[in-house]
Amino acid sequence: MSKNNCHKNCCDNDSDSDCDGLSAHQLFGTGDGLTYNDFLVLPGYIDFSAEDVDLTTNLTKRIQLRVPLVSSPMDTVTESEMAIAMALCGGIGIIHHNCTPDYQAAEKYKHGFIRDPLVLGPNNKVSDVLTIKKERGFAGIPVTDTGKLGGKLLGIVTSRDIDFKTQDILNEPLSSVMTKSQHLVIGADGITLQEANDILEKNKKGKLPIVDKDQRLTALIARTDVKKHRDYPLASKDENKQLLVGAAIGTRDGDKERLKKLVDAGVDVVILDSSQGNSLFQINMIKYMKNEFPNVQIIAGNVVTVNQAKNLIDAGADGLRIGMGSGSICITQEVMACGRPQATAVYKVSKYARKQGVPTIADGGVSTVGHVIKALALGASAVMMGSMLAGTTEAPGDYFFSNGVRVKKYRGMGSIDAMESKDGEGSRQRYFQGENDDVRVAQGVSGAIVDKGSIHRFVPYLITGIRYGSQDMGIRSLELMKTKTYSGELRFEKRTASAQIEGGVHGLYSLVTNRTKLSKHLN
Ligand code: NAD
Ligand code: IMP
Repeated sequence: MSKNNCHKNCCDNDSDSDCDGLSAHQLFGTGDGLTYNDFLVLPGYIDFSAEDVDLTTNLTKRIQLRVPLVSSPMDTVTESEMAIAMALCGGIGIIHHNCTPDYQAAEKYKHGFIRDPLVLGPNNKVSDVLTIKKERGFAGIPVTDTGKLGGKLLGIVTSRDIDFKTQDILNEPLSSVMTKSQHLVIGADGITLQEANDILEKNKKGKLPIVDKDQRLTALIARTDVKKHRDYPLASKDENKQLLVGAAIGTRDGDKERLKKLVDAGVDVVILDSSQGNSLFQINMIKYMKNEFPNVQIIAGNVVTVNQAKNLIDAGADGLRIGMGSGSICITQEVMACGRPQATAVYKVSKYARKQGVPTIADGGVSTVGHVIKALALGASAVMMGSMLAGTTEAPGDYFFSNGVRVKKYRGMGSIDAMESKDGEGSRQRYFQGENDDVRVAQGVSGAIVDKGSIHRFVPYLITGIRYGSQDMGIRSLELMKTKTYSGELRFEKRTASAQIEGGVHGLYSLVTNRTKLSKHLN
């Protein structure tokens, strides 16, 4: 019994008529632009369990993930809550830039070490704590002599300090109700998250203030955040055990200030966010970044051709983002006449980039777990999703009901809606439109996505799906999948229009909707 996907190992031999399917090279060699729905991967031989499939992958030259999933830098997809959830599940989130630089930079540290904790002074009143609790949902607040981070730590005020006779002490200064610093358990600046975890566990405390040698407050650690780290074995972390996070920026001069703030906040990877990345501005930005911030990994793009990829790789890109016009909310191909069907773009660019040692992200056009698997089989190292992750609990925005269905808003970053949003500076710049520009050419639309529940259930569903797909191919790791794609051993076949109908649900009198099937998986 052959354990190879191609039984004769002839792989790329066109003339062999009884060889199953086509190599990727043959499939994409015809000049047609193919989408994920236009082909299938042929199954291989299974002699291992799906849990054994290793999904480890490189996001960039230096950053490795355990799960090849990335959330898109869109204002209805990724802010801190999504970024934290994605990183905890083993992927990564890229925080959007349709907001002020300060807002974007502040999103980075809402996990692990809280580097910008809310701080009060000794003369603040108990009523101030109650207001913060009502508005922000927490009440463990450090008190410093200046009322700011960097001031000398005097104590901490928690719910337990004020929950008796609250109404009688509303005007009391915090200095009289707080737990004073001499009674606190404190961590020294430089401590690792693991050490902090041990201290919190041993002392049964909810918050651990971190101070420097002069007792000045530098950060805060919350027990709830630390517990999360323990519960997520696949979590994407840096060497300090902090969750990995990325952020998107544009390529204008103003973006340099944004970049500096992101680097200061500790961003791990920066995406240069553009539909057409092969530009003088982007190449100059890559060179600037390599010069000024050599430790930050850069994902450049978007690209869909080898030519575009070459320019950005030559400039110094550490990763590439592939996709132009394939997004679910995208009208770029209709409006700009430029783009490329996504499967072809992913295969062609990834093949070239691999030779240069640069990982790629397949971005957009993914609407099933099967599409994720196909993108990986075509050589992408990771898959970026917008619509798949919008509508989850962790996506920004509130749920609302539309015709009785619970939904969340999802919009293109180049939609009129996003460009006109209060903070839509990023979007306006990207579309060459200044504040006084009346003419707007939208490249995206705005809509709604059905409630998908939490990322913490949805991403594990995707991970399991990828593992099963890989098992069906008879491939134990994503790295091996790439090797077999390029050797021609992994076999593909084109789907005719009727094959696509056959491969979908057909011939039923009635149908339980996808939504119901999905919730069965998730509940
Ligand atoms: P943009 O302004 O960012 O990009 C245009 C490109 O041209 C950039 O690379 C920019 O640096 C460059 N450029 C602009 N003026 C230049 C000049 N004078 N000289 C040299 N280079 C110049 O606008 P965009 O590409 O329409 O918007 C990108 C954003 O929209 C991203 O959020 C992207 O994700 C989203 N989007 C994506 C797609 C897609 O298919 N992936 C499609 C449309 C929009
Ligand atoms: P989706 O996963 O198919 O929904 O596609 C998400 C991707 O679409 C993003 O990661 C972007 O690359 C792209 N995108 C975001 N906003 C726009 C837009 O306004 N027009 C076109 N493409 C967009």
